[in-house]
Amino acid sequence: MEDFLRFENVVKSFGANKAVDGVSLSIRRGEVFALLGPSGCGKTTLLRVCAGFESPDSGRVFINGVDITKLSPEKRPVHTVFQQYALFPHLSVYENIAFPLRIRGVSSVDVKREVEKMLDMVELIDHAGKKPHKLSGGQRQRVAIARALINKPQVLLLDEPLAALDLKLRQRMLAELDWIHDEVGITFLYVTHDQEEALGISDRIAVMQNGQIEQFGAADAIYENPKSRFVASFVGRMNFFEAEIVEMAKDGTIFVRVDETGENSSALFKVPRPTNGAATAFGKRLQVGESVLLCIRPEKFLIRTKSSSSFHSGYNPDVFQNVLSGVLEREIYYGSESRFFVDIGEYSVMATQLVHSRSNTPALELAQPVQLSWHVNDCLILPLDESQGEVVGAELFTEEEEVGA
Ligand code: ATP
Repeated sequence: MEDFLRFENVVKSFGANKAVDGVSLSIRRGEVFALLGPSGCGKTTLLRVCAGFESPDSGRVFINGVDITKLSPEKRPVHTVFQQYALFPHLSVYENIAFPLRIRGVSSVDVKREVEKMLDMVELIDHAGKKPHKLSGGQRQRVAIARALINKPQVLLLDEPLAALDLKLRQRMLAELDWIHDEVGITFLYVTHDQEEALGISDRIAVMQNGQIEQFGAADAIYENPKSRFVASFVGRMNFFEAEIVEMAKDGTIFVRVDETGENSSALFKVPRPTNGAATAFGKRLQVGESVLLCIRPEKFLIRTKSSSSFHSGYNPDVFQNVLSGVLEREIYYGSESRFFVDIGEYSVMATQLVHSRSNTPALELAQPVQLSWHVNDCLILPLDESQGEVVGAELFTEEEEVGA
């Protein structure tokens, strides 16, 4: 796919606050691209620059090779869908969708044909005569999407389009948006602070922080190979350990030591050599004695109840596995998965397990010793970024989990 929507060194400030700080980004024709980041990172401002609602202080925006930076919003081949739908309350669903065509003076026959096509696509034929207040949140958002698409924009800009919906509806709408994208095949630029939404819908993601792009790439590449502690904890859940490099063999083998690991005062782990973004993030050659951040996602662990067999804390060369011993502190049961918290001394480690079958999976009893093992390739090391706070083990609890704690 060729590059289609391009931001070239875009800067936008509000007073002294640089909301977008030199963003360059190329988005391909027909892809779903997500701008993901915490509140205030500048993602909406970047989208508004593309829509023409904000003009950048410097930098340029191109669509299909044409510089649109100075075009007024209505002349741009884009349309925006907002979180709050922005429907006309006094108009029916049909007339809301027809509105952009009516102001362009399109003939009634063509309006009817196009609106019916859209109503069919968003499955609202039976609701065409209703006013927006008679619709559910999801239905209203579908009207807004239909109205945005009826003008056949080349790029659909979606600004937190599902944020006002409850979880179930959000999940359904995400699947519907995916389907609509397959139908229309145009470029979607999707702004969200919700990492699951971004991972679920997009081909590629740019993670933003402080007005800049921290990392961008395919959704799975960002998840598996975050290049900084910020990205690692913002996208998905992550366990962090402060570690020290104790061996760097010529064949690329790296061993790190983590202290304060409970019954073993320290444990040794084999880790893969940093690749891609993580390698450049270190910015220099790694060496023995260097402090790093050892990162392991909760689902990478295998949880075993402790037996007196061959396991030992640290690296088990027979099976390329790292092993940690601890005590099972807490379980949060979500139906399809369970989240376990294992106390390993200084750290509380989160390990998740899918619940395939309650009857076939023996329940893990709390307060019993357990071992967490993971394959050497299922962890990574990153620079120890102290600006992100102290290292505490499992990070990124949702409010719900904290309440459950
Ligand atoms: P959110 O998800 O909360 O909207 P965001 O990542 O989309 O966050 P922006 O809305 O782009 O962030 O805002 C980036 C920064 O610019 C914030 O500090 C915000 O307060 C500031 N900002 C945005 N719009 C304006 C404005 N019109 N006037 C002044 N400051 C603004």
